[in-house]
Amino acid sequence: MKEPTKRIAIYPGTFDPITNGHLDIVRRASELFDEVIVALARNSQKSPVFSEPERLELVIRAIAEACPECTNIRADAFQGLLVDYAQTRGARAIVRGLRALSDFEYEFQMALMNRKLAEGITTVFLMPNERYTYLNSTIVRELARNGKDVGDFVPRAVSEALRDKFEPKFH
Ligand code: ADP
Repeated sequence: MKEPTKRIAIYPGTFDPITNGHLDIVRRASELFDEVIVALARNSQKSPVFSEPERLELVIRAIAEACPECTNIRADAFQGLLVDYAQTRGARAIVRGLRALSDFEYEFQMALMNRKLAEGITTVFLMPNERYTYLNSTIVRELARNGKDVGDFVPRAVSEALRDKFEPKFH
């Protein structure tokens, strides 16, 4: 009998840095798919606070800390068009998080464009627990930059990395 094909999903983003909101989506995706690839966009127009290797390392450490049972998650970085990358990885789904109506317009546009480019890849939207709907990486960076504790919003590996990044060094 033919082996069933693995259901692979890509969860793309900047992850600068990964937050508990992202991790909520990762956990849900991990239950729905055989394999989930958290994929850092390399050619983001944003200038991230954390370098690509730093973000990748934080993604790996955050998943190990927050979801040790999620053994079907991988982390990777990609360049170029998301659908091209998804095809090279044999993925049939792109996972995105939807927090509020404000996310919708951009996500809708991207999902339709990606479908036009690659009919075989479906964008799936997952909603996080409502306690994460107001959370994003920009707010977390701003809090950390101003010396506030971000322990409620990110795993420990990330709050420590933020402290190291922004703590004034007097030596
Ligand atoms: P991008 O730069 O593409 O917005 P992000 O890393 O900020 O990348 O986000 C990646 C994905 O995670 C997006 O689909 C975004 O909507 C989703 N996301 C971000 N923050 C949260 C959150 N707090 N809860 C659920 N989904 C989130």
